[in-house]
Amino acid sequence: MTRWRYAAATDTGVVRETNQDAVFADDILALVADGMGGHAAGEVAAAITIELVRDEFHKRPTVEGLYMAIEAANRAILANAGEHSEHFGMGTTAIAVGLTQDNDGVVSPTLFNVGDSRAYQVRDGALRLLSEDHSVAEEWVRMGRLTPEEAKVHPRRHQLTRALGIEEALEIDVISLNALPGDRILLCSDGLSNELSNEELARMASSPTPLKESVDQLVAAANHAGGRDNISVILLEFDEVSVATTEIKRTVSTRPPPVVHSTRAVPARRSARPRRLTWRVWASVMMLAIVVIGAVYVVKWYAYSTYYIGNDAGVIAVYQGQPNGVLWFKPKKVFDTDYPSSQLLPSDERALSSTISAPTLNFALKYATHIRNLWRVHQHELKVASTTTTTLAGSSTTTTVKKAAG
Ligand code: MG
Repeated sequence: MTRWRYAAATDTGVVRETNQDAVFADDILALVADGMGGHAAGEVAAAITIELVRDEFHKRPTVEGLYMAIEAANRAILANAGEHSEHFGMGTTAIAVGLTQDNDGVVSPTLFNVGDSRAYQVRDGALRLLSEDHSVAEEWVRMGRLTPEEAKVHPRRHQLTRALGIEEALEIDVISLNALPGDRILLCSDGLSNELSNEELARMASSPTPLKESVDQLVAAANHAGGRDNISVILLEFDEVSVATTEIKRTVSTRPPPVVHSTRAVPARRSARPRRLTWRVWASVMMLAIVVIGAVYVVKWYAYSTYYIGNDAGVIAVYQGQPNGVLWFKPKKVFDTDYPSSQLLPSDERALSSTISAPTLNFALKYATHIRNLWRVHQHELKVASTTTTTLAGSSTTTTVKKAAG
């Protein structure tokens, strides 16, 4: 039989405006979820995880039950993000200790971990880290590429390699806990472990005060140290504890282990979301289509924003558009005047041959009539001048005749 007492707290911290962490603790389950994602999506991911894991584990309080519960939460987060575009990219860590019953009826504590929230065992004032951080920097420490000291300041120390809400395949660390009565387990989000040293964590987590006071003291200390992230803390203290008949320490995965082909950096899964890019692709295509259609309309407006007078097979005509066209928008004839283009003054005829621009249709029509009238006036003047010359010539003849007669 295993029994524990518990206390839990979560706090927004000093810097963040919202709390995307969530915690849950009762007689058989303790769970911390550190949500991530903009527009409060991290809160949604954390809340989904708490609710589903709590409900599913209570129905089936076994190792398999808790594993299935975390998997169900992962699928639910993916489904929610698929349905709500504003939740795209949300995810969460999950670290849980459940009192799991095995086939022999033994109830013992089992730790489950995905992400960089942490579990520590506290015994006799000493602290031991039980979980592994699934972050790029910490993976590199385990591979020997970084020292623990380098990892603490490495720019990729917050970049997760595992989290709920990234993809359907999920790897979960599952570890049977060996505890003694009086041992404490500290579960926390990185808002606590990043702000306090191991010595501070050990001192406060093991102080012989009631659990709730220790929890509040840890939260206050993290806030005092800067409170740069949301802070979540759960303290468990075992009154009685059994050891599982079969100890477990493994990473359970829904897919085969990845094959490493090169020494390239582990991709950050927070940003690698190839399976759920569909709505982004559609949004990009729609935006592009809107821009293209808008550009076509602007070009068309410009192409047909003006008029000109030109020669259409010997007749003066009015066209709408630019004389040489713009792209595929060619000028179109909008009016035939029936005025022969040969019946113009030479200067207007020359101007017509290279087109005469006009700002409006009305202006174009008036101008065409105007140059036609100029030609008519000119013709009239020529006719008058010709008649006068003929008359004068006739008078002169008469005079001559008269003179000849005289
Ligand atoms: Mg955090």
